[in-house]
Amino acid sequence: MEQTILTIVVPCYNEEEVLPYTISELGGLLKNLIMEGLISHKSRILFVDDGSKDRTWPMIYKEGLRNEQIRGLKLSRNVGHQNALLAGLFTAKDRSDCVISIDADLQDDISVIREFIEKFDEGFDVVYGVRKKRDKDSLFKRTTAEAFYKLMRKMGVDLIYNHADYRLMSKRALDELERFDEVNLFLRGIVPMIGFRSASVYYDRRERLAGETKYPLKKMLAFAFDGITSFSVTPIRFVLFIGCTSFLVSLIFGSYFLTLKFMGHTKTGWTSLITSIWLIGGLQLIAIGLVGEYIGKIYKESKRRPKFSVDIDFYNLPLPDHLKNTDREEGETFGRDFGTLSETN
Ligand code: UDP
Ligand code: MG
Repeated sequence: MEQTILTIVVPCYNEEEVLPYTISELGGLLKNLIMEGLISHKSRILFVDDGSKDRTWPMIYKEGLRNEQIRGLKLSRNVGHQNALLAGLFTAKDRSDCVISIDADLQDDISVIREFIEKFDEGFDVVYGVRKKRDKDSLFKRTTAEAFYKLMRKMGVDLIYNHADYRLMSKRALDELERFDEVNLFLRGIVPMIGFRSASVYYDRRERLAGETKYPLKKMLAFAFDGITSFSVTPIRFVLFIGCTSFLVSLIFGSYFLTLKFMGHTKTGWTSLITSIWLIGGLQLIAIGLVGEYIGKIYKESKRRPKFSVDIDFYNLPLPDHLKNTDREEGETFGRDFGTLSETN
């Protein structure tokens, strides 16, 4: 049997602090797996630089010059974790039998990659990495994340509980994923939709080793909201439900007040008037806002803009001889030099 060609895709955004560690850990693991004969020597690690503003790209690039197994993909600007991941997955899939995605901070235990590959060899097309418990996350992150999964479930979105973007996908599954060409791609929801045989592998999540989270509260909320509105129309239904209920309630109150009026018991009624104006006004604004959110999504989808642009593809390009063993240090020139090179190739 041919050996499995594996590519590990690692999205990186301003990860200079943790990158040397990540490169050596993942690089070492890949070497071991190759030596054990579990995967082919054509296996690679693909670091996707998501428009970092620090030395992330030059670090990846320099390492790539030294080590054939370390490859890089430089995106033209920051497009966010999900899109950077997609860029890596789609670049890697044509040259791999399977692709594993993992975050650059190695919070996810890389030793289970072995199990991922075993599962793949057993014939599973998708293998999910699932956290056993989240005791290393802050209490806040843990509770909000768990609430998010539960909420999504309630709204009928099939998510794997406590699974982030640490997973293996076969080339076949990735080909299917590519057919989902929506702009708002929420991977955790889409992958289970692809179907195929899937398995889960359990591990303990660690703390971030260096650098800080690239998902502050604001981004986390946006991500959760995006996930919900990309997959479910339950919020709109809920608004409709509130609308109907308040309509019914107003009918009941209306008839009650009318009866009072005809019986001559009316009072000035300022309080009830002003509260209902505020209440209904607020509800209407929420409803309009929510509908707007979905229209915004349709607007984005209708433009069909590309999800990412690749600046430098240091994965598919063979390395030109005169660039090997270069001593140059800084990032900018690397990018441009390589850019002109690829035009002449
Ligand atoms: N990331 C990215 N683009 C972004 C933000 C984050 O590629 O705009 C990457 C980041 O480098 C990391 C992964 O996405 O590899 C997850 O980010 P992080 O570990 O900060 O998130 P957390 O684990 O705190 O949710
Ligand atoms: Mg992290």
